[in-house]
Amino acid sequence: MNLAVGLAGVGVAVAIYGSVATWSSASAQFRHLRIRTVTQPIPRKYVSITLNSTFAATLYVVAVLIGEGVLYQQEVNHSVLRVLVDSLLVLLVYDFLYYFFHRWLHTHTMMRHVHGVHHRVQFPEAMDGLFIHPAETTGGLALLFAAMAVVGPISVASFLIVAFVHAVANIATHTNLVVPHPAFALFNYWAVRHDFHHSTHRNSNYASIFPVWDRMFGTYR
Ligand SMILES: [Zn+2]
Ligand SMILES: [Zn+2]
Repeated sequence: MNLAVGLAGVGVAVAIYGSVATWSSASAQFRHLRIRTVTQPIPRKYVSITLNSTFAATLYVVAVLIGEGVLYQQEVNHSVLRVLVDSLLVLLVYDFLYYFFHRWLHTHTMMRHVHGVHHRVQFPEAMDGLFIHPAETTGGLALLFAAMAVVGPISVASFLIVAFVHAVANIATHTNLVVPHPAFALFNYWAVRHDFHHSTHRNSNYASIFPVWDRMFGTYR
């Protein structure tokens, strides 16, 4: 499959998931499932989220245009096992790098000039993972592409899985919902852990996908 076409499909799937998650967390019907109810709306937040989504999509376009042979290989047929292992490795390396990036963002200077934008959110909503400073968007995606280069060049299938999981985790951590069904266990876990990060335990739960890094470095709550 052509990577650009595949990424367009991933973008549509993520947009649908984000829309459903946003609607669900705002719906009175699911009020009883909320971790906390939003009481401090941020003006023009969705304008920033839309601009930042466009910026992130642009960075993906750049990665597709200049990353062949380094980040990914268009013409390669890896086995299903290789595709899955590569995807897992990229996400592990990315999340390890992101852990330290996020800790750095919590230093006084970075919080004041960059990460403070995201922490204006005290009551997370689904798309708040994209309510961040453009420098943070750039840094986060640069780490994701760096992880691809370290593990890869990976196949198009692995690239699509990584992009999908990265985006879904980014939304899931901010959904503000705990759905009492085993099928949502991972999503609930992500949402509760990251809610701590936005509320009572700001200096904990820095990793976005795997809790192992916070456990390893003593910041797990
Ligand atoms: Zn933070
Ligand atoms: Zn957050």
